[in-house]
Amino acid sequence: MLVVALTGGIGSGKTTACRLFETLGTPIIDADLIARSLVEPGEPALDEITQQFGSSVLTTKGTLDRKRVRQLIFSDREKRHLLESILHPRIRREMVRRIAELTTPYCIVAIPLLVESGQIEIADRVLVIDTTESEQLQRVIERDEQTEEAVAAIISSQASRAARLALADDIIDNSGDIGHLQAQVESYHQKYLSIAKNRS
Ligand code: ATP
Repeated sequence: MLVVALTGGIGSGKTTACRLFETLGTPIIDADLIARSLVEPGEPALDEITQQFGSSVLTTKGTLDRKRVRQLIFSDREKRHLLESILHPRIRREMVRRIAELTTPYCIVAIPLLVESGQIEIADRVLVIDTTESEQLQRVIERDEQTEEAVAAIISSQASRAARLALADDIIDNSGDIGHLQAQVESYHQKYLSIAKNRS
């Protein structure tokens, strides 16, 4: 099984690209969805987070207060590492478990914070969805009705475009229209099928 990690900055088009790969029959494993499911009430990771960070990270309903957690770790490197040490190994184990269940020639593992999280060892190749920061800004402002300042702050808190591109084996340029994106997805789909075939 060829494992392709797909990453990109906020609003770069990761979700859109994943949907296009999906329509070609490629299974997508989404690290963000796994991360969310791991902190559902009753999950051991949520208990551990509550033990380490205190019950102030829980909402009145007993679910994880994500906003509160973000505030706690925002400017505290140690707390951030602590949270990551609880979540990352579990996310990784779950990704490996799901990959092992697949029977297709290749799969895509969508890891938005691949550069920041160091989850790269799981992948045979890294595919970066790339666009300009001004496109990121414009698309996210439109999609989420956010202010330019709020989106710009998120972009600058993420790994730089250059740092992501430095890790890329493959790059999709998503600064054009959807047709341009689709053509590149189709071309990489063929490429990955061919790499997978030649490996087996
Ligand atoms: P996030 O990091 O916030 O999860 P993302 O990387 O998954 O974002 P998408 O949600 O796929 O990005 O795309 C951001 C927005 O830009 C969406 O509204 C999407 O429909 C739009 N979009 C993506 N690619 C294109 C494109 N090539 N042309 C026009 N709009 C696009």
